[in-house]
Amino acid sequence: PHLVVAVDGPAAAGKTTTCKALSRRFGLGYLESGRTYRIIAFEALRRGLPPDNPVNVVDLCDELLRESREQDLLTSGRYGSADLRSPSVNVAVSDVARIHELRKRVTELVRLWARHQGRCIVEGRDIGTVVFPAAPVKFYLTASPEERARRRLGQEGGASYEEVLADVVRRDEADMSRAVSPLVPADDAIVIDTTTMDLEEVLARMGAACER
Ligand code: C5P
Repeated sequence: PHLVVAVDGPAAAGKTTTCKALSRRFGLGYLESGRTYRIIAFEALRRGLPPDNPVNVVDLCDELLRESREQDLLTSGRYGSADLRSPSVNVAVSDVARIHELRKRVTELVRLWARHQGRCIVEGRDIGTVVFPAAPVKFYLTASPEERARRRLGQEGGASYEEVLADVVRRDEADMSRAVSPLVPADDAIVIDTTTMDLEEVLARMGAACER
């Protein structure tokens, strides 16, 4: 049977950093599901398609799946972080992520990937609630918006603290108010508020839960 560790939480809560460290420590595959939403948003903008139009976006996703291997939409290094983490993609990805038909496709891709991996850790917004509701280990990582903006500062090009904070708050609102798959902790998730914790403490808590 396959073992999935599900890690969800709001933007800039430290999911990627902790997941990468945990995956190394336990020898687990690692997938950042937000990357797929970002690739779709990036490609929509590049082709001049409105990222909030469900028909355009779903057609685009199907076209990308026909043109490339599934792997390209999940883990390939074909897209750099300058492409996928630009301010315009940060905004467009919230629109794209509201589209139910697209979420269904991404969910299927992620499930397929996990089936091939066996033991893995998957991060996102709906991993413990929708994609793998039966995952044996689930975490919900969070921190205050101010702390998340501080941590993200410097990673987002030349943006100021106020700009980064505004983007964090906007994405929280978009993720939590979405009609489909809104961001909430799964009932059985271990909620870790990392506002006053350092990385080592967070990793110790997560590692202990994974060893059970
Ligand atoms: O994790 P990251 O910030 O890279 O994700 C980019 C965007 O993709 C998020 O702001 C969120 O709206 C969306 N997303 C999602 N469901 C996931 C992962 C990401 O809706 N499982």
